[in-house]
Amino acid sequence: MAAPKDYYKILEVDDKADADTIKQAYRRLARKYHPDVSGKAGEDKFKDINEAYEVLSDPKRRADYDRLRRGFAESQSRRRGQGFERVAWDWPGEDSGGFGSIFEDLFSQGHEPSRPYSQTIPEETVRITLEQVARGTTVALTVQDVRECVVCHGRDRNCPRCGGLGQVSEPRRFDVTIPPGIEDGDVLKVGDHARLKVEVVPHPRFQRQKDNLIGRLMVSVPVAAVGGEVPVRPLFGEEIMVKVPRHSNHGRMLRLKGLGLPHRGTSVKGDMLLEIVLRFPEPFTAEDDAMYEQLKNHHQEAGGEIHAPR
Ligand SMILES: [Zn+2]
Repeated sequence: MAAPKDYYKILEVDDKADADTIKQAYRRLARKYHPDVSGKAGEDKFKDINEAYEVLSDPKRRADYDRLRRGFAESQSRRRGQGFERVAWDWPGEDSGGFGSIFEDLFSQGHEPSRPYSQTIPEETVRITLEQVARGTTVALTVQDVRECVVCHGRDRNCPRCGGLGQVSEPRRFDVTIPPGIEDGDVLKVGDHARLKVEVVPHPRFQRQKDNLIGRLMVSVPVAAVGGEVPVRPLFGEEIMVKVPRHSNHGRMLRLKGLGLPHRGTSVKGDMLLEIVLRFPEPFTAEDDAMYEQLKNHHQEAGGEIHAPR
């Protein structure tokens, strides 16, 4: 039997960590291991982080998980103490399509008193990237689907298929289409009963504001002073050259029309908004220093006004 994954260890938090701490740890690690930043190498780690957060951020799932984790630790120490003891738990593998989407199944298969069928409305959560929001995507989802018994239609109390309940619960696989432009927290209906909640993972370069993408654009001081072009990597696709107007101050916003996200259900696209952040070019040579010294002496204005923080 495989040990349950240590979700606390994956998120680098204590097993008594509160919801806020867990959320912060998740955001930090999701940025660090986002495939956009760490590439192929970080992919498995990124999946683990998302799976761990999916469970630990949900109080009920976290409680279930804590119970399972404690149970496993106890069974291990019993095993060491008195020889063998078979434990029936099995841990879901990696091949589950969505991140950890079969976690619920694990608990509905006999590890807890089973819930009455009629109360089971399977709801799953899937986490997708901003890139997937832009293009739309498809996720494979397996849910316990409750259907009327086709053998007896609820009319045979001794029915071998449903045991007289009139309905059977069985895993059903769906390929769920997630349309472009979906919002964080949107819920999609799957089949007759199931629901799929979509969450969008934080992106290392862009923040989403409805259909717009917001980022901070590093621009060197000389380019901002006299104007020029800088290469910019959009959400995906090839680099584009973005024009920086002359005399661009720190904080100036550039709007790139149509480079945002699609508005759900339409062909309209939002914009990319880039806030200019001034940076000195590297390396900054002694010659540069001399030229800037000259510039400084050339100008009357030295700054000195105070503004309250934004
Ligand atoms: Zn039946």
